[in-house]
Amino acid sequence: MKIEVSRRKFLQGSVALTVLGGSTIAVPNLFSNEEEKAKPKLNTKTGTGEAEEIATLCEMCVNKCAAIARVENGRVTKLDPNPLFPKSKNMLCPRGNAGIQALYDPDRLKYPMIRNGEKGSGEFKRVTWDEAHAYITEKTLKILDEEKDNRSSFLFCAGEGMAEHTFRTFYSAFGSSNWLNHASICLMTVAAGFSTTLGSYPQADLDNAEYVIMAGANRAEAIVTPDTMDLFKRTQRRGAKLICVDPRFTNTAAKADKWLAIKPGTDLAFVLALTHVVLTEELYNKQYVEDHFNGFEEYSDLVISNKYTPEWAAEITGLRADDITEIAREFMAHAPRSIYYPGRRSTFAQNDFQLRRAMAIFQGLSGGIDTKGGLIFGDKIPIKGHAGLQPIYDRAQARASGKKDELVTGEEGYDDCAVSTPAGSWIGWRNRYLEDKMDYNVRGMFIYKHNPVLNMPNSAKTIEMLKKMELVVAIDTMPSDTVMYADVVLPEAHYLERTDPVKTFGGLEPSIAQRNKVVEPMYETKPVMEILKGLTSKLSKPMFEITKKYDEVVQEEVSERGEASVFAEFDISQPFQETQEALNEHAVHHYHGAAEILKEKGVYYPNMDKYFKQTSVNEYEYYPENKRAYQVNGGKPKTPSGKVECNPANLAKVGVDSMPMWKDEYNYEVPKGKFRLLTGRHAQFTQSGTSNNAMLRDLMIENYIWINKRVAAKRGIEFGDMIEVSSRVGKTELKAYPTEKIAPDQVFFIHGFGEESEELTWAYKNGGNDNAVIEDVIEPVYGAAAMHETNVEIRKV
Ligand code: SF4
Repeated sequence: MKIEVSRRKFLQGSVALTVLGGSTIAVPNLFSNEEEKAKPKLNTKTGTGEAEEIATLCEMCVNKCAAIARVENGRVTKLDPNPLFPKSKNMLCPRGNAGIQALYDPDRLKYPMIRNGEKGSGEFKRVTWDEAHAYITEKTLKILDEEKDNRSSFLFCAGEGMAEHTFRTFYSAFGSSNWLNHASICLMTVAAGFSTTLGSYPQADLDNAEYVIMAGANRAEAIVTPDTMDLFKRTQRRGAKLICVDPRFTNTAAKADKWLAIKPGTDLAFVLALTHVVLTEELYNKQYVEDHFNGFEEYSDLVISNKYTPEWAAEITGLRADDITEIAREFMAHAPRSIYYPGRRSTFAQNDFQLRRAMAIFQGLSGGIDTKGGLIFGDKIPIKGHAGLQPIYDRAQARASGKKDELVTGEEGYDDCAVSTPAGSWIGWRNRYLEDKMDYNVRGMFIYKHNPVLNMPNSAKTIEMLKKMELVVAIDTMPSDTVMYADVVLPEAHYLERTDPVKTFGGLEPSIAQRNKVVEPMYETKPVMEILKGLTSKLSKPMFEITKKYDEVVQEEVSERGEASVFAEFDISQPFQETQEALNEHAVHHYHGAAEILKEKGVYYPNMDKYFKQTSVNEYEYYPENKRAYQVNGGKPKTPSGKVECNPANLAKVGVDSMPMWKDEYNYEVPKGKFRLLTGRHAQFTQSGTSNNAMLRDLMIENYIWINKRVAAKRGIEFGDMIEVSSRVGKTELKAYPTEKIAPDQVFFIHGFGEESEELTWAYKNGGNDNAVIEDVIEPVYGAAAMHETNVEIRKV
């Protein structure tokens, strides 16, 4: 990393930390009943005696619904929904309820451990926290010394979670440039496609929509969160029409007014044809286009001159041209209360970025942007950051992005992506690392709450990567497949055992919510904040000694100013000295009484005491209609120009098509005798994170492979038969589910099963691991993993 400026401490937040100690601020009473107020706070009686209720947030999936935990004799006995949170609207799904099982799962990681056998063997010895820290320190110092203080010789990677931010603070202070998170197997191309076109990744106002196209988003089955309930309880009940576009007949398809069984990876052709109808029949909102579009003429010319007609799309997608025409007309007839649902899923096909761009432009043609019943940007309540530390290490190299001219293109199926982001391309980075195409050595890895062995395509390569790393430190709650390849395991406290960073949630009804500690951490587990406090206290000074050894500027500064003064700017333990509770108080100290309300109620937003109302048995109002953030940008996109960007010049500059268009290579083709593998989620499971949860197993014991019934009959496959699924990268086994709900050239199974860790009583070898067979195909713009580009063979075993 080249530096041009003198050394100094970077304050990432706004100001140095100010803690509101011993605040006696009056808390507005949210429940108007004075008798209630006089009672002990949130205490209830149960059959077993006194019980305390503590407001917290769920972490069984990414949605972070608000919950009330009932605690009796120090144990959590029940989790209930917290009605105060607008985002979760008094809902706690089955997974949320199973949070208790996760807390009391006997397989949890309990103590710090150091590897005691081959990597992957699962042989560890129990050690003290001090011993674990000493081991990590010794190995880290050795690597940094040998790499002459190149902090980027360590990779940091994390899964999604409220404490991910805390771990990222460690990464920043450590000074590496190599960070990978789950984005490239999650929302990366969705968010990028919409942001490039509309300036932001919008939300859908399903509550007020009249017409919804849901393509590749299986909301009735894959992720049952409160907005799912909105869709099926309120939106449809009001008479809104739902169009489901999905290769499989899913539960969402079953609930839809119309199901279109599209060929995988051809949604872009569908959207281009919808656009063709709308342009040629002049159904679009002409005033909106005139006021709020850039590049409309060029895009219109492209769509019309390429003859992206419904008949053209019918050939590619397998849909009927009449259906496409009808949907385009209906969508515009209901505009602006029509939604082409943006989706909340990983990348399926290589054209995913351009698909999202085409969807955003199509939505823009309806005028349904930043408006009630359409796509909305919502509002956010600002909270304060806190002092961070980002020392500048002269010798830390820039992100290991590989030497582009040495990369293999084409047949191997991956290459550098056009746009490099801080989240990185997980499998792109991994593959370059394995092929020694980095421009320097990366030798160590810190992993937080992340299971890339199960979650990244081509599990065998991820295992190879973990084996090749000289030091792998895993911070987690469960002995996942990835943890089995760690050198040091640091057990994190469960989410009900810790207070996490307070978070602001944007949307139509913005609010702030806080995960409060419900019970004390069990065994020897600790919240990540405390784990990092202990670790950095050990690491900090010796790491500074290495910097001093190799960095002449530091040597000069030490001789001028004295060691203590210079070290203060490099002391990586600093960000972890305050408690999480104190940091949270600081984050909201500008809202009168908010810190106390968050501790007690878990949720805060200005005027909550006035606005929050129960309107029926299980219906609540959070904001009055005229205070909801339907429109925050005057009905305009949030791009710098304030316009829908159809043809932005900056894409062409990085070699990306500036307008969405179809290419022959996108055509859906499956060689004879093979099947296109589709994968997806189930609402009862969150990737591999809940695979060992015994309560959830009651709802779905294992994953089954969907095989078309006629194909299964021809091959003599019956329900429950064991099937081997294989691709060019690996194989897995699971039971058969012959069904009419999938096309003859496709198979499907749910992600997150088939772990190999023997420490997971219920998840071990339970079902099949999709990523053992999904090939590492990279979406070329942002480097996301394209999950539906693998053809497989199947065989009864
Ligand atoms: S949707 Fe379910 S699992 Fe996800 S946060 Fe909400 S309650 Fe928890």
